Order: sequence, then structure tokens, then C-alpha cells
Amino acid sequence: MASKQTDSKRDNQNRIVEEARQSRIQQEKSYRERALKLFPWVCGRCAREFSGKKLRELTVHHKDHNHDNNPPDGSNWELLCIYCHDNEHSRDEVSDWYAEDTPDTDTSSQGLDMPFAGLEKLLKNKK
Ligand SMILES: [Zn+2]
Ligand SMILES: [Zn+2]
Repeated sequence: MASKQTDSKRDNQNRIVEEARQSRIQQEKSYRERALKLFPWVCGRCAREFSGKKLRELTVHHKDHNHDNNPPDGSNWELLCIYCHDNEHSRDEVSDWYAEDTPDTDTSSQGLDMPFAGLEKLLKNKK
């Protein structure tokens, strides 16, 4: 009986984790779509234009590096190509954008790792 309870508890926990992960993926997908509607499909750094298949190389950069800060007017977003986006982040060794390119197939832990990327930066900045 006791083991049954533990099992259902764990199932419940798994479901909560999975739901959180899914909603995060959904959120990321939707802000990218919104950003693509708001802005011209041009990299904000190198000014290359993107369309069709190439469009997947255009990513959403959060100006304040906070993925949860998604104002509807897009004021925290900037469209950057993956190369310029990489450059942008290599300056402070933080990459917030990898999660934005999550493939549709299930890649398990990837989504769960991301919240700590921001945390790490916060800790670094405190010094
Ligand atoms: Zn670029
Ligand atoms: Zn970024």
C-alpha cells in the first residue's frame, strides 16, 4: 500500500514537471511567433534577411536576458540570427537562446536545464 502511494506521488510529480516543461516550450514558441509578426525578418546585428527555411536561423533574443519578460509590444525582444545571437551571448558567456530552437521531438532534460542559465548569470553579476 505504501509503495502504491509513493508511485502515485511520483507520477504526479512527473506530470507537474512535464506540464511545466510543455508550457515553457509553448511559451517560447508563441513569443517567437509573436516576435516574427511584430518585426521584419531581419537580423538586428548583421541585417541579413530571412525567409522560408532560413527563417529558423532567426531567433528571439531577450534584451534583459529574462525569458519570462515578454511584453506584448515586443520591447524586450530583438530578432538575431543564430550567429549574431551567439556573439551577443559569448560576451557574457550566457546563452539563453538554445531553448528557443527546441526541436519538436522530445529531448527530455534540455528544457529543464535552461532556468539555471539565467540563475548562473545572476550569481556572476553579484560579484
Ligand atoms: Zn546576424
Ligand atoms: Zn539572447
